[in-house]
Amino acid sequence: MQVLSLASECFPLVKTGGLADVMGALPPALAPLGCRLRTLLPAYPCVLDALPGAAPVAALPDLFGGDARILEAQGPDGLDLLLLDAPHLYARPGSPYHDPTGSDWPDNWRRFAGLAWAARDIGLGLLPGWRPDIVHAHDWQAGLAPAYLALAAGNGGGPRPATVMTVHNLAFQGQVDPGLMAALRLPPETFAIDGVEYYGGIGFLKAGLFYADRLTTVSPSYAREIRTDEGGMGMGGLLRLRGGDLEGIRNGIDERVWDPARDPHLPSAYGPDSLQGKTLCKAALQRRLRLAENPDALLLGVVSRLSHQKGLDLLPGLLPWLMERGCQLALLGAGEPALEATFAAAALAHPGRIGFVQGYDEPLAHLIQAGSDAILVPSRFEPCGLTQLCAQRYGSLPLVARVGGLADTVIDANDAALDDRVATGLHFHPVTAEALAEGLDRLLRLWSRPEAWRTVQARAMTRDLGWSRPARHYHELYEGLLRHRD
Ligand code: ADP
Repeated sequence: MQVLSLASECFPLVKTGGLADVMGALPPALAPLGCRLRTLLPAYPCVLDALPGAAPVAALPDLFGGDARILEAQGPDGLDLLLLDAPHLYARPGSPYHDPTGSDWPDNWRRFAGLAWAARDIGLGLLPGWRPDIVHAHDWQAGLAPAYLALAAGNGGGPRPATVMTVHNLAFQGQVDPGLMAALRLPPETFAIDGVEYYGGIGFLKAGLFYADRLTTVSPSYAREIRTDEGGMGMGGLLRLRGGDLEGIRNGIDERVWDPARDPHLPSAYGPDSLQGKTLCKAALQRRLRLAENPDALLLGVVSRLSHQKGLDLLPGLLPWLMERGCQLALLGAGEPALEATFAAAALAHPGRIGFVQGYDEPLAHLIQAGSDAILVPSRFEPCGLTQLCAQRYGSLPLVARVGGLADTVIDANDAALDDRVATGLHFHPVTAEALAEGLDRLLRLWSRPEAWRTVQARAMTRDLGWSRPARHYHELYEGLLRHRD
């Protein structure tokens, strides 16, 4: 089985969030099942720098304003990469989506239409000697690929690969000006509700969700939530219509990257049977963030984008309460400037008790996961979430909002789950400051019962949270698509 997967980021080459983690970890998990998955990625400068051996295999003349090439490269960790080398689209500083000042690139529409068009051409046989059976598009940046393929086949272009569209976050939809239809190489008649039109504009994600053969998202609960008007963010109607083709497959963690027994970012290794190393990591984290080196203080960690979605604006009002109870806080994140300023001020106001690092820091993210006693994830919505998965593997109990993938991947320490020794963290609901305070109160009560705490911790650390199960699920989905086509 041959699959072409496309996305705008892929760990460890380029990452702004969980999408990259999935792109980096799923292909090697599918390989043992007999599925060759090649990943098509924009050749950003950082990607080219990391892969100096990348070799051209095909030309794409006149790709939305300039000539482009497909390069082939073997990436780290066995990734089989196809890089879209299009200097007019990608040879720039900044992040995949923003210029160095943080504004969206004004031509993101053609930067990602180019990616989708390249996938279309590869799907229709551009590469000598390799043609995918399935094209798997991830998030809005890849959303036009299923549309381009469906429209090419409809125009007598011959057989096309089957297509899958995966939503990693419905909040990012890629809506562009309706005047760009021709520039996007979309036939005018597709500017319709049964097409690419979306609330008066052109919707990249809408196009993918309309044209792809099958749809997935990254947890079963989120698959249910996005079918509702409340959780559907404007797509609820379409997703209800396509409900029979939509399923939720939870993400896993890359166990080669997230394993406290062999994590190069930690000062000391540990595992479920040897927790002394975790105590040393806690001390190292306290020193790193200038917190009092107190093993008994409940150390709460946060590793997150600081956006409305993540619900961290609920935390500042609870800080006095947490300080009274002797807790410490280790925060790492970047995003909304107001929230960054609030956490920076809180760290100044509570020296030795609150540490805040503004920015994106992969090694520190690992140290916070290892050195904290608990990790807070108060998201208003969460397609899957990875931090709570890592937290469990690292023996830091996740306190999560009971939404989306957080509800699916953390087993709440209620009395029944504690009695049956299956709990792995705590839920709170609804997503309000009051409910978060109640959740924190339950967490503190569990902390005061070391034996119960250790039981939950041991269960969390030994759960199967890796990629083998979700990879089997994706493989079944692919097989079903191919059976259907034969
Ligand atoms: P999202 O993709 O919505 O940001 P996820 O929980 O799915 O949220 O994935 C977030 C990923 O990004 C995790 O691997 C997490 O460790 C990482 N991450 C988030 N913020 C930071 C940060 N400031 N520094 C380092 N890693 C971060």
